[in-house]
Amino acid sequence: MSASNSNFLLTGLTLSDGTSSDIQIAGGVITAIGKSLPKNSDDQVINFNGSVVLPGLVDLHTHLREPGKEDAETVLSGSMAAAKGGYVAISAMANTSPVADTAGVVEQVFALGQSAGFADVFPIGAVTQGLNGEALSEIGAMADSNARVRVFSDDGNCVHDPLVMRRALEYVKKFGGVIAQHAQEPSLTKGAQMNEGEISSRLGLKGWPAVAEEAIIARDVLLADHVQSRLHICHLTTAGGVEIIRWAKARGINVTAEVTPHHLLLTDESATSYDPIFKVNPPLRTQRDVEALREGLADGTIDIVATDHAPHPAENKECEWQEAAFGMLGLESALSIVNQTMVQTGLMNWESVADRMSYAPARIGRYENHGQKIAIGAPAHLTVINPTQTYRVDRDLVASRSRNTPFHGMELTGVIQGTFFRGLPTFLAGKLTSIHNQAIQSNGIQNEGGTAK
Ligand SMILES: [Zn+2]
Repeated sequence: MSASNSNFLLTGLTLSDGTSSDIQIAGGVITAIGKSLPKNSDDQVINFNGSVVLPGLVDLHTHLREPGKEDAETVLSGSMAAAKGGYVAISAMANTSPVADTAGVVEQVFALGQSAGFADVFPIGAVTQGLNGEALSEIGAMADSNARVRVFSDDGNCVHDPLVMRRALEYVKKFGGVIAQHAQEPSLTKGAQMNEGEISSRLGLKGWPAVAEEAIIARDVLLADHVQSRLHICHLTTAGGVEIIRWAKARGINVTAEVTPHHLLLTDESATSYDPIFKVNPPLRTQRDVEALREGLADGTIDIVATDHAPHPAENKECEWQEAAFGMLGLESALSIVNQTMVQTGLMNWESVADRMSYAPARIGRYENHGQKIAIGAPAHLTVINPTQTYRVDRDLVASRSRNTPFHGMELTGVIQGTFFRGLPTFLAGKLTSIHNQAIQSNGIQNEGGTAK
């Protein structure tokens, strides 16, 4: 085959261990790593001036709103937000309309992700039919489908019936799946608006006690132990929750846990603005919780950072607090927030960031072609960040179709310089490009699903 545009020599990179290096990419894989690599005649050379290179980021918790709420986000717009944030794989939560509780819906979402060409989109299957918490969904059919679903969650809702949870844990064990639980005891959180504490009483908003989250986590680690299956806890927010996970892991229970960027940075103090941009489920907690979450992420008690990217149209957020929808955007700012809260503070090094945002989420989701160490022969999924450059978040500039970022107007530290998915730049020099467009330009490969619109 003649020379194509799909060979790259990336220079001026800093690896996660701090050493300077170049990386050469050809045919979608890493072909050389080292100082001052010789340029091949067909290489496009890109100099990153010392920026840090990480394995491409993997998100285990993303809401894409397609099918059903395409005014908030589509698989394509969410994939573009992912690429802009350094992600090469995202996991589409099941609470769409219709719910992703059949092989048909998960195959549709998976195919939309492939045709968008900005990241792999791995659908998460619903645990129960219609997220009703009662009858198990077609878990086996979704696992056997083209989407090969391995993660199941009713996220948005808690699987609150312990017998249903037990059956689900038993079912996914057969094929190495995992149940991702949204831990929220429903009767303790009826009508709850924000963290229960001093600030909720002062503002007169119905409180959401930490115990409503912790009681479900405690119950489910015991259930997972009892049936010897694999449990994942979504968006941990409380110091007590971190303690329970630490205890469970010490006992050898097969549990993993995630924390969101917003819970690593923000507290319930933000609610004093009465701006529903800060309304999120689970709620922002106290400074003491934030510190426990950071410590838990640093020591590995919390396995991963997951965005819980939750797009909402303006009318659902620009209203009274009580009426507003729960949720925040997350994909585009996640790595900056982790850089700012964990790396710049000295709590975590870049190799740990690679683990919490790439290796571990890919391992939990069984995403075999992702989360690999940067090495010769590995797929060229890469994220490049300048960790000291700052930028001001502007909600009018997001790639997402919605604008509900709580970081609007804030200055964040760490700017994504490039994202490479299957060896091609999906985000580079501020520009988003689908891999299909590049593949067509370079060697005439037809993509199966058409180009990004
Ligand atoms: Zn959730």
